[in-house]
Amino acid sequence: MAKNYLTVKSFSNDNRTYHLTRAASGGHITCTCPAYAFSTESPKTCKHIQVYGWKLGERKTATLTVTVQMDNASFTDGAGELENLLGKVAAAVEDGHTAGALRDLNGNTVCRYEVK
Ligand SMILES: [Zn+2]
Repeated sequence: MAKNYLTVKSFSNDNRTYHLTRAASGGHITCTCPAYAFSTESPKTCKHIQVYGWKLGERKTATLTVTVQMDNASFTDGAGELENLLGKVAAAVEDGHTAGALRDLNGNTVCRYEVK
């Protein structure tokens, strides 16, 4: 059975947390953040629900876009490097990041990702 309560960090302030709750009887998830309180969508939503909702069993799918710079020098080991990058993207998404870029040792962007 899926959890029905989750504490998440604010995306803009690491010292602030919000609480996602899903009633035991099911239904939609609520969040304690201001964006949820002022949401005009029906049902109400916020970035926390969009990113973490799957952990409470509401979202069945998410779209993760990963763009990889395939001509990067590190791609001499193509599949291995791709596995490495996807692992890092997975860790970042699990950590609550909704978008970002991964860079190589020289500071070149080798991968961008976005969750919607
Ligand atoms: Zn929220």
